[in-house]
Amino acid sequence: MEETAITRIRAFLKRRAFAVGGLAVIIPLLVIIFLQYRALTTLNQTLPAYRKQLMRQYLMSVVEDFSRLYSKNSEQALAVPASSIDLPKNGVIEDDDERDVSQNAVTRVADHFKQQDFKGAKRYFVVVATDNNGVEGSEVFFYDPKSQTMIRDSKAPELKAVNVACASYMIYVREGTSVVPSATPVDRDLRNRLIVKPVINEWKKIVAVAGLVVDQEFFLDTVLPAAIRKSLPEFLPTEDQDPIISLYVRGMFYLAYDGKGNLLKLSESEQKVEPEAYQPLTFVFSNSSLTIRLKNLTVEQWARRNFTINLSLWVLMTLFLIAAITLMLRTASREMKLTQMKADFVSNVSHELRTPLASIRVLAELLNLGRINQPDRVREYGAYIESEGRRLTQVINNILDFSKIESGRKLFQFESCDFKEVVNGTLEAFTVHLKQNGFTLSYEAPQNSLPKVVLDPDAIALALTNLLDNAIKYSGDEKEIAVRISQSIGFVTVSVADRGVGIAAEEHEKIFDKFYRVSTGLVHDVKGSGLGLSLVKHIVLAHHGKITVQSKPGEGSVFTMHLPAEDQKSEQQADRAGSEGGLSYKLTG
Ligand code: ADP
Repeated sequence: MEETAITRIRAFLKRRAFAVGGLAVIIPLLVIIFLQYRALTTLNQTLPAYRKQLMRQYLMSVVEDFSRLYSKNSEQALAVPASSIDLPKNGVIEDDDERDVSQNAVTRVADHFKQQDFKGAKRYFVVVATDNNGVEGSEVFFYDPKSQTMIRDSKAPELKAVNVACASYMIYVREGTSVVPSATPVDRDLRNRLIVKPVINEWKKIVAVAGLVVDQEFFLDTVLPAAIRKSLPEFLPTEDQDPIISLYVRGMFYLAYDGKGNLLKLSESEQKVEPEAYQPLTFVFSNSSLTIRLKNLTVEQWARRNFTINLSLWVLMTLFLIAAITLMLRTASREMKLTQMKADFVSNVSHELRTPLASIRVLAELLNLGRINQPDRVREYGAYIESEGRRLTQVINNILDFSKIESGRKLFQFESCDFKEVVNGTLEAFTVHLKQNGFTLSYEAPQNSLPKVVLDPDAIALALTNLLDNAIKYSGDEKEIAVRISQSIGFVTVSVADRGVGIAAEEHEKIFDKFYRVSTGLVHDVKGSGLGLSLVKHIVLAHHGKITVQSKPGEGSVFTMHLPAEDQKSEQQADRAGSEGGLSYKLTG
């Protein structure tokens, strides 16, 4: 019981190998596409937020980058040793001739600034507190790189900003307060941004203030673009993103850079486009902020585009995969069928050869031994031997022609013929065979003469014989065969009709394939090679004609060969037949 179920399943799998294999591939692929679609949808929803986060981190990284640079360099450049300032009374200079004393006090500071090469600083300065007979004040000395000395510069544009920045420190200097000596940005005057740092003595008490004026041009032209360039690949590595990084200095100006740090000229409306991320600046250039957005798309649009592209690629790839696999499966299934058909062919052909040979041998032996005396029986046996011999020839001719067509060696000898004559000749040769098998043949042909046909008489005879042979083989008990010649526009036709087992509609095309045999119903019992109809088809096609079949199971079949009448045939073919003596035809499919 179980075994039959397994055998049935096996047989089903074998029969439906292509469909089963196809489903086994297509279902997982569809599942994968569905999962991929879900994953991509989720990604599409989360990607914008993630991108914005990345953009924010990128801006933070840019800000951190240059802040670190300014912080580190200004700490170092402004680390003026207290010893380089001559400090009477905790650094507060009290003297009548206070100006000269204060000048002297900071002389050695120049030695310190001389060694600094921080390009972000436009000017270095130091501020000391003064007390001139109770009048508290401060004195600003700028480092002059030309003379490498500290000078007073009453016209310096930064002077006011420096005084304002250091005023509070001066109170501490006067009081000798301990302070943390760290570099601090002062940006009250946005045109003159400063970094200042208290100068402390060995008791950590502030004695003066050292400072630098930030070189804004250098920051905007060099430092910021470098920082923009540096971090970009780490946070926005995708090439198709075209970021615009903008610096807003509130109430003053707006600058925009591309991802490479090049300055961009943006129209007013472009400047107003909402950014995706924002980061205030802290250490230097405080009071301003960096923003980022993509040039042509919002992050949401970008994510949607990514989603569409990815999904389309997936679908396309899957379709290609399905197509390739289908093709492979089809080829494999065809090969399997062909192998099966070839195996059947060998066994069928050997049977087809062996059966008539056995009959011939037995009958010939009987005749040879002289056991048959009645002349009627002798004639009958002779006719039988002849008929079986003809059958053998037919089988062998089929195989030989088939192999010639397969290898492209088949040459057709075309000549202009009387179609009726060719058909009559074939029928005559076949009559004995028909009679022997108890068939009645009805033959119908038009009285008037038919147009001539350019054909290979042997090939057409072989084709017709095959149709007659099939009519006999597949007639069962209905032993009536009708052959009919007729004429239609441009064609002459010959049809062979039987009242036999018939053929299901879905088999009508397949029966013309090589080795193909209908594997259901009565046909099981009939031996054959599966080559007959494929030969007929190829012979007819080589004549630029066609073969048609009308048949229903149980109602018999009508096979009709349509051959073009001579005037319809291309002259080219006739020429070729004449000059080359034949037409080579290759069997395909
Ligand atoms: P075979 O050697 O099997 O006859 P053919 O190529 O001549 O090979 O025919 C292919 C198949 O077509 C046959 O196996 C048979 O199933 C079907 N067939 C051909 N002719 C007939 C017919 N006259 N009636 C019913 N079935 C036919």
